[in-house]
Amino acid sequence: MSTNLAGFCRKAKKAGALEAKVIPAESVVTANWVRYKCQYGCDGYGACLTCPPHSPTPEQTAKIVAEYKTGILLHGSEHVNLTRIAAELEREIFLSGYYRAIAFGSGPCRFCDQCNLHEGCRHPALARPSMESAGVDVFQTARNNGFTIEVATCHESKADYFALILVE
Ligand code: SF4
Repeated sequence: MSTNLAGFCRKAKKAGALEAKVIPAESVVTANWVRYKCQYGCDGYGACLTCPPHSPTPEQTAKIVAEYKTGILLHGSEHVNLTRIAAELEREIFLSGYYRAIAFGSGPCRFCDQCNLHEGCRHPALARPSMESAGVDVFQTARNNGFTIEVATCHESKADYFALILVE
């Protein structure tokens, strides 16, 4: 079945990802400081159902990651909605027989102008917590898998976006 995953990487690139790579799940790093960064310093904290405190904690995510052997890491730019690509690919991978496929997106949810915080998600098929909102150290995870990622120091800096699909 693992040979099929290369095909899903090609699909991700066709959908707009810059790169997509099959990775070992054990290379995904979770850390408690990631949650602190969300809570103190990000104006998106509490603003949508895919962000803390609604998203999985680093501890929960670490336990989830430990249940998988493989993932697909997607790299994208600000020109594509990488969360949409990951969620749509999650569905395709699931339908191909990998019934445990789950996706983590990138950045704050962009599917609504304002989140439907009190009545539930309007787009459950597409909305996914970002890697970082679920406590993943995106920098270390990307570097562990050969991707280049640097801190964007100003609004004009090129930013790198990553999304993840765990596959089993
Ligand atoms: S899709 Fe809309 S309702 Fe659902 S988490 Fe995103 S912003 Fe909130």
